Amino acid sequence: MTEAEKLKENLFRKTKTGWEGLQENVKNSIFTFCDNYIEFLNKSKTEREIVKSVKEIIEEKGFKNICEYSNLKPGDKVYYINREKSMYLAIIGKNSIENGINIIGAHADSPRLDLKPNPLYEDSGLAYLKTHYYGGVKKYQWTTIPLSMHGVIVKSNGEKQEINIGEDKEDPIFTITDLLPHLAAEQMERKLKEGIKGEELNLLVGSIPYNGESISDAVKLNILKILNDKYGIKEIDFVSSEIELVPAFCARTMGLDRSMVAGYGQDDKVCVYTSVRALLNTENPQTTAVCIISDKEEIGSMGNTGMESHVFDTFISELLNRLGINRPNLLDQVFCNSKMLSADVDAAYDPIYASAYEKNNSGFLGRGVGINKYTGARGKSGASDANAEFVAQVRGIFEKNDIKYEVAELGKIDIGGGGTIAYILANKGVDVIDCGVPVLSMHAPYEVTSKFDIYETYRAYEAFWEN
Ligand code: MN
Ligand code: MN
Repeated sequence: MTEAEKLKENLFRKTKTGWEGLQENVKNSIFTFCDNYIEFLNKSKTEREIVKSVKEIIEEKGFKNICEYSNLKPGDKVYYINREKSMYLAIIGKNSIENGINIIGAHADSPRLDLKPNPLYEDSGLAYLKTHYYGGVKKYQWTTIPLSMHGVIVKSNGEKQEINIGEDKEDPIFTITDLLPHLAAEQMERKLKEGIKGEELNLLVGSIPYNGESISDAVKLNILKILNDKYGIKEIDFVSSEIELVPAFCARTMGLDRSMVAGYGQDDKVCVYTSVRALLNTENPQTTAVCIISDKEEIGSMGNTGMESHVFDTFISELLNRLGINRPNLLDQVFCNSKMLSADVDAAYDPIYASAYEKNNSGFLGRGVGINKYTGARGKSGASDANAEFVAQVRGIFEKNDIKYEVAELGKIDIGGGGTIAYILANKGVDVIDCGVPVLSMHAPYEVTSKFDIYETYRAYEAFWEN
């Protein structure tokens, strides 16, 4: 190497792909980890299913519902489930909790189509369910793909029916039709964002009239009869239901080199999975390790299962009560001494749409875990913007553990923007930075991630808690 080359090697930040020079055994570990991740994705497509899957995994490893503990001591593993849709996990550390906790927080909800409260209607001999999209979606992406139905219907007497149709090979699936190109001249003139309108996202669910009788709405009647036979429900019961339509296809290994994962809902189930797996490796941490699996992030974190609710504060207060140290203002003090990785996905640089990104500050597939000092839009508006001192601490942990990381800013200035749950915890006094997996086609029915980044994110979360 020339002197200039040496100097460059020494002074420039590294931008190499993580795959380069990777040892075969590490590559195998990455692939095995991602096989398990794919399996997890395929049985947990909604926030309720995520909570159920995670509960199963962690109970096997000795986590217990917080209600089962009257006193807590270092090493104890607890969880709390909030209305079946969000959950908090903790491992009590050796250090006093007064000195703060280490939080990693992801969200389990993903963009999708929800059924409206009065969804069922018949038109021209076809039965449809009306939907209301949830989160930021490009609506045209949700037509002409197989969709499955997940959720619950609760009758007024409290009886609950779980619905899961379209995942089993024997199940029917559903789809939303689109106009054939031959007749779409007018539709094709619409702007892309109106290519398919919200009120056109109607799910086709039936076409056989009840008993062939010539009464009105006989196809709708037949659908209700089927639902009544199977679940004992009537049309009015949809009013108290939460039914989500999600892609019926499976998450899969992607690429000839098998380097990527394609699947629905990787925003933000990839961070849920990597953080839960990292927590399971954490035994007797110095600092109390806390994992958040939040709900409603995609629609602004509102509601009593969203991060804006005070249920998380209550959970931490319950830890303080059971440690026998609670007193006025202690909760605020704990938060002010705490650190957090807001575990959410980043927009990966997409060379096909290069003009949306600023190359120097974009996350690239295969370069490791993405860190995002600030989110927001138009001059960082709405961002919590992590302190340089805290970014340095997090970097330090990654560098000490040889974890590949990269900066992953969300696109060019003034071209758009977005947010995560970071600011909510920052408002409580916690030091927070966004830190997660770069994703291509974010919020589409099929999102793409790099297996290297998934594994590196898992290692990053583990290092943060072990530190
Ligand atoms: Mn997200
Ligand atoms: Mn999102």
